[in-house]
Amino acid sequence: MSTATLTIDLNAAVANWRALDAKTDCETAAVVKADAYGLGADKLARALARAGARSFFVAVAEEGAALRQALGPGPNICVFSGHMPGDADMIGDLELTPMINSLDQMIRHVEALPGHAFGLQLDTGMNRLGMEPSEWAAVRDVALAQNPVLIMSHLACADEPDHPMNAQQLRTFREMTDGLDVPRSLANTGGVLLGRDYHFDLCRPGIGTYGGAPFAEARHVATLDIPVIQCRDVAPGETVGYGNSYVASRPTRIATISAGYADGILRAMGPKTGLWCDGKRLPIAGRISMDLIGVDVTALGQDPKSLQLLGPNQGVDTLADAAGTIGYEILTSLGARYTRRYLTA
Ligand SMILES: *Cc1c(COP(=O)(O)O)cnc(C)c1O
Repeated sequence: MSTATLTIDLNAAVANWRALDAKTDCETAAVVKADAYGLGADKLARALARAGARSFFVAVAEEGAALRQALGPGPNICVFSGHMPGDADMIGDLELTPMINSLDQMIRHVEALPGHAFGLQLDTGMNRLGMEPSEWAAVRDVALAQNPVLIMSHLACADEPDHPMNAQQLRTFREMTDGLDVPRSLANTGGVLLGRDYHFDLCRPGIGTYGGAPFAEARHVATLDIPVIQCRDVAPGETVGYGNSYVASRPTRIATISAGYADGILRAMGPKTGLWCDGKRLPIAGRISMDLIGVDVTALGQDPKSLQLLGPNQGVDTLADAAGTIGYEILTSLGARYTRRYLTA
């Protein structure tokens, strides 16, 4: 077997979700969009439901439908994209709760599914999803008469605690919703960490549960071990990989491992990234190929069976920094070819 193994520690994810929950006095939901950030929405959501999560958020109704099959009846499944054309059967039959983003969506929803639960999404400055203050002022009374179950908005800069946008969005959210008798939600992971003013009735962390920044206390969740296919000696002056970008400056032992950019190991991270074995960091040698990566394992003094890209020594944010991106993109890029193993207890 030469596919890499992605090990997902469900206990660590549950511990992270609980640690975030413990920072609030309100309900803590779980955001499991994009297959729980690439880690497996069915497994993660079931583990979090067992730990007490009662509400789950996904990006689109199709994800919600799949999640309902995994979770069964009971938990709330909320859809950020709201009620799109063609969604009514899924929303109705599978008891999904769309977060309505506009008057158009509102009309579509109450016409297709009168009396069916929905939430409202407001735009407090991010200009991405939700009703803006002027639209909200016009629609508000009609919308409230339909008994929304939640009013939510989303923070643009919550991972930067000192950013003035946070307080500005909080102020706008309060102006748009203070005094209404509907549960409210504003905080993602970063928002949970901003403190109680941002928590309202429900928080919606995603990345912190999966071990990523800005939740610095997070336990490590995803580990990626990549098998070594072959090792060889490379003499000074010889090159490794496409474009001859690596030239050996000393007698070097090169291991070729079985994963590449087709598995979400971004080419951009190559020059700054190492793989780990026996507590040693081993630099990537040359360019990352589609299915293969060369690694300088000289420092090991022996040929390894596998090397670790993600693990306790090197988390998603370290990889992200090396590739000039964010941990979210590293996780959601994790390859379909990996063998996924789930650790419990
Ligand atoms: C993705 C998302 C979240 C979760 O954000 P994290 O930063 O991963 O905690 C919460 N709310 C909305 C609207 C989102 O799109």
